[in-house]
Amino acid sequence: MKKTVFPILLWLIFETVAVVLWQAKDNLFYLLNFSYIGTSLAIALLLFARRHPHARRVSQLLIGTYMLVYLGLICQENMQIEGFWYYLFTGVFEAATIHYAVAKIFGPLLFGRGWCGYACWTAMVLDFLPFRQPHAPRKKLGFVRYLTFIASLLLVAGLFLCHVGNLERIMFWLFIAGNIAYYAVGIALAFALHDNRAFCKYICPITVFLKPMSYFSLIRVTCDKEKCVSCGKCRQVCPMDVDVTDNTRKRKNGTECILCMECVKACPKKAL
Ligand code: SF4
Ligand code: SF4
Ligand code: SF4
Repeated sequence: MKKTVFPILLWLIFETVAVVLWQAKDNLFYLLNFSYIGTSLAIALLLFARRHPHARRVSQLLIGTYMLVYLGLICQENMQIEGFWYYLFTGVFEAATIHYAVAKIFGPLLFGRGWCGYACWTAMVLDFLPFRQPHAPRKKLGFVRYLTFIASLLLVAGLFLCHVGNLERIMFWLFIAGNIAYYAVGIALAFALHDNRAFCKYICPITVFLKPMSYFSLIRVTCDKEKCVSCGKCRQVCPMDVDVTDNTRKRKNGTECILCMECVKACPKKAL
């Protein structure tokens, strides 16, 4: 019974957002969209509670393909960072801006980088690659994320300043091109550095929002020091190199935690 409380609670939070946005914007899309995402997450968490080995993958596939194929390709809504800038500049508080506000800017105060672990369509593919646990030390390439972040902002600002026409159409093609580039770079980096999540660690511009907000995350994995025997298994299996045995907010790579729970599953003492 206890194990079903959290999935139900999460589902209720998403339903509340769905109903509030549906009523506030007078648009049924929000009810369907957030209900679908909340239900997908709740199903994955229920599977997780039953120790299903692919619970997180279920969520990634349900939400990731929905956002990429339905929202991106069929509805032609650019949910990449350039789409966020575009809708922000045009003053449109619609799907892409709401998505960023909920999943990537304010939501991380509650659920950290849950987006990265359970919903992102880029990581949905990268997580199928063979390098789940990085074995090489982390590279000093984190600065690249700021370059891609600034480049996306300058690109969209440039389109506005140059009064380029048919921007809606351009944003759609940028979505296609951006995704192809993300997958190509992400897969190449994973093989080059033997690390599925190298793209997330060094390149992804969205982490410029995600990292500072998730620092304050309410939901986080903590360690019971009484039980921990310092075996190091949690560090070995962590795809993001987090020192999860340190309970402070300043833990090493703490803002990288994607709540995948691999460390929790691996801990022989159930200390996490
Ligand atoms: S870091 Fe970026 S690419 Fe990686 S999971 Fe998060 S949003 Fe997706
Ligand atoms: S796996 Fe568990 S017991 Fe081992 S170091 Fe991590 S928290 Fe401690
Ligand atoms: S293994 Fe643990 S510390 Fe590492 S990302 Fe997953 S949940 Fe976070």
